[in-house]
Amino acid sequence: MSRKITAKTGLEIECKGWEQEAALRMLYNNLDPEVAERPEDLVVYGGIGKAARNWESFEAIENTLRNLEADETMLVQSGKPVAVFRTHEDAPRVLLSNSVLVPKWANWEHFNELDKKGLMMYGQMTAGSWIYIGSQGIVQGTYETFAELANQNYDGTLRGTITLTAGLGGMGGAQPLAVTMNEGVALCIDVDETRIDKRIETRYLDVKTDSLDEALKIAEEARDNGKPLSIGLIGNAAEVHHEILNRGFEIDVVTDQTSAHDPLNGYVPEGYSLSEAKKLREADPEEYVKLSSASMAKHVEAMLQFQKNGAVVFDYGNNIRQVAFDTGVENAFDFPGFVPAYIRPLFCEGKGPFRFAALSGDPNDIAVADKKMRELFPDNEKLMRWLDMAEEKIAFQGLPSRIAWLGYGERAKMGLALNELVKSGEISAPVVIGRDHLDSGSVASPNRETESMKDGSDAVGDWAILNALVNTAAGGSWISVHHGGGVGMGYSLHAGMVVVADGSDRAAKRLERVLTSDPGMGVARHADAGYDIAINTAKERGVNIPMLKE
Ligand code: NAD
Repeated sequence: MSRKITAKTGLEIECKGWEQEAALRMLYNNLDPEVAERPEDLVVYGGIGKAARNWESFEAIENTLRNLEADETMLVQSGKPVAVFRTHEDAPRVLLSNSVLVPKWANWEHFNELDKKGLMMYGQMTAGSWIYIGSQGIVQGTYETFAELANQNYDGTLRGTITLTAGLGGMGGAQPLAVTMNEGVALCIDVDETRIDKRIETRYLDVKTDSLDEALKIAEEARDNGKPLSIGLIGNAAEVHHEILNRGFEIDVVTDQTSAHDPLNGYVPEGYSLSEAKKLREADPEEYVKLSSASMAKHVEAMLQFQKNGAVVFDYGNNIRQVAFDTGVENAFDFPGFVPAYIRPLFCEGKGPFRFAALSGDPNDIAVADKKMRELFPDNEKLMRWLDMAEEKIAFQGLPSRIAWLGYGERAKMGLALNELVKSGEISAPVVIGRDHLDSGSVASPNRETESMKDGSDAVGDWAILNALVNTAAGGSWISVHHGGGVGMGYSLHAGMVVVADGSDRAAKRLERVLTSDPGMGVARHADAGYDIAINTAKERGVNIPMLKE
């Protein structure tokens, strides 16, 4: 069984309240063909990141949400609804736990076995927690990352530079736009032509070719003319990167967003077409993992060579260094991950990928919200620049939405403002407010968000669990705990939160609490690890941390 799901819009609701309706609409939105990468298989993004375990579970979730009372909570275990309990009106309507395995069993082999038996599902980060908003969800973070890279290396702009990367999937598809927004040239490799086409359709990518010669010629011309341009090249990164090196072609920046975190489903081995890869994956999964891991090792060796040649090289959160290391590339970790290199100072202020979606489906609701954001934070230059570009360049996918990196204090302010706009009718229907799990206080991931923590606490998972617990206590609308996410089995624990602004006074209280405690966890986590920015943020803005260092 498979169904075609599209985002539901309008003011009429089929559930018993807007909160339940919001969960239903965001589940649908995750699977809208404009939003999801493989909706027929319930796959939203990130390899096999799914919104529900199977179609039967999907329908059970739908029906349960339709009948759920305002004082009940549905429990979802890896994409399957398993119980409904009476709680109370300020409690979450949905609690989800995805892909969590007992640590000793937390590896792909065991997960794949359970997945095959229908006992598990891979939740990624926002796939299984119903707050994915298409590539926009990642584009601001990607933009900020490249902007910081440009600040550190090229006087604040990528003009006149070429960035080489691979993977134009749901998240990776944000790379070309983020590079051109920073005025650079992006050369993006993907084995799957349909992924390249999708990025062109949604205006994230400019041109495509299947010829390396042509790609390099166009890239060189654009670079020499200082013209921002993104090029999609059909090919396998494990091969193409070495061909570029062999030609002595100069590349300035190298990163990668293939789904390397999942060697069986996320990475195509060199020499294999998509259909051959699919056949081998089914016929001999062990051999597949061996071949894809060997290709990833080769891919990382090329990245290391680019680094030796003088390029700025960084890991973009897909755990490719770990796979290469496990396959014998001893110096795989010679290039850094993007969080310690570019993002951590933002995390210290509780900043991260705050986002909201208009349940009405009316783009004007986002225009009203953007205007409010400009009024509230006029001195935040980065945010103003981002809004200018987003309004001009971002094509909405599914429900109109906005990503805006906001920090401690700012999120609660914006959440309450959105609730007021819903109350006054300036925004036509309730708004869903959430974030990626890739946030300041919600994730433990030693090869990514918590790589190289100042106090060595990279692998401490308590913070992610505490984040979910406090957001539940504070009254989020749906709260989730996941394992694996963007880096794969055994490498991370993380939590998600969504809270609905329906214009009511009750919602205002919940919004204020959740949108304070959630980024507050980020400040507390980094202050505890000894980061000065976080310690100062806590002191200046009054985050209550009992043992705060002086
Ligand atoms: P996706 O599965 O939608 O896309 C991966 C893409 O890689 C596909 O288009 C696939 O065709 C391509 N690919 C696979 N093997 C290839 C090869 N050998 N050569 C060239 N292309 C190849 O995944 P996504 O949602 O785009 O995420 C990409 C990765 O980034 C994942 O590992 C994800 O966990 C990670 N991620 C990063 C961030 C971040 O902020 N940096 C956030 C979330 C996820």
